[in-house]
Amino acid sequence: MNLRRRPDVRHAAAPTRHGGDDERGVAPAILWSAADDPHAPPGPASVRCVLCAHRCLLRPGRRGICGVRENRDGKLVTLVYGELVAAHLDPIEKKPLFHVLPGTTSYSIATVGCPFRCGFCQNWEIAQAPREGLRHTTFHAEPDEVVAAALSAGAGSIAYTYVEPTIFAEYLVDVARLARRAGLRNVLVTNGYGTPEAVAALAPWIDAANVDLKGFDDATYRRICGARLAPVLETLAGLRAAGVWVEVTTLLIPGHTDDPSGLRSLTGWIARELGPETPWHVSRFFPAYRFGHVHPTPIATIRGAAAIGRAAGLAHVYPGNIGGAAEREDGATRCAGCGATLIARSAYHVTEMRLRAGACPVCRRPLPGIWADAAMDGATDGAPGGTGAGAGAGAGGRR
Ligand code: SF4
Repeated sequence: MNLRRRPDVRHAAAPTRHGGDDERGVAPAILWSAADDPHAPPGPASVRCVLCAHRCLLRPGRRGICGVRENRDGKLVTLVYGELVAAHLDPIEKKPLFHVLPGTTSYSIATVGCPFRCGFCQNWEIAQAPREGLRHTTFHAEPDEVVAAALSAGAGSIAYTYVEPTIFAEYLVDVARLARRAGLRNVLVTNGYGTPEAVAALAPWIDAANVDLKGFDDATYRRICGARLAPVLETLAGLRAAGVWVEVTTLLIPGHTDDPSGLRSLTGWIARELGPETPWHVSRFFPAYRFGHVHPTPIATIRGAAAIGRAAGLAHVYPGNIGGAAEREDGATRCAGCGATLIARSAYHVTEMRLRAGACPVCRRPLPGIWADAAMDGATDGAPGGTGAGAGAGAGGRR
């Protein structure tokens, strides 16, 4: 089965919705309630969306900050159910997830929309489409069609990515449920801004997540993302507590998120609250969107941040987007016990896999993560909660 792989993008003077040219993407939303709104005009009720930490209050006819959830006659609906703007087969290392089925591909899907307004977004044309007035030609895919396409492509997982995937939570859960039944893993690439209610709804179906932790300063979060830090930390802890395998990514933007003292706080928090074997991807910034005037992150800054992470006790620090031999050397996974190379990579590709049954072949120390030779728990519908932690027992365990 082929799903279209490239979105068409065109400007529209006054887009009214972002799910195609008809009502195909409209479906009842989850995680909302009628809101007490004493100043609302007479008529249908205002509603409160509790999917992300913005917790938008929406009067009838209005949309939330993400631009893809709307109050229709006192009921919240999603406008993007099944309305895909991207479907690509990516190496799972590209998410990045380095401790999840290394060397496999992940069928990666997205709709438009995002609750953040990051001026440095690499995918702004789809993430910020509602805000920017960009209209896309979407293509509709029922959940079973996505799963069939992923299986046909030989993927090991389905990734909900490119934009903030919680904004299409209804669709995500329906796809993930079928994917798990079919033996596929589900992975989330997220800004971590889901509420605890959203984490409770999604986590049972999610095996692994890469969560952006863009900095460790609330003022910075407000300034560059239009969001707050605390909900992101709460999501990270909530996903971990729910048994989801978590990796963290920090994009180092010169002058914004590269302050060494902030990075010390950030990495110390990861080591303390998520565990020292939590992979931390420290990624190089390249100019994009409204940050076209900012220079790329110097390699030395990436190297310095990686050293800060290691000094904080993190065992698996991965510099990203630095290219060439440096990335090959720094992108390897090493045993936290004896230092042996367990997984060697070149960019997004695994070039050597020395892991045996999820453990170091030299000292036998388990490497936490999700490995291909591990049984998959919860592989049937109605058995949520099994994320099939690979060989994660023992030292460090599956955290
Ligand atoms: S998902 Fe977030 S931004 Fe969108 S309507 Fe709900 S609370 Fe608002």
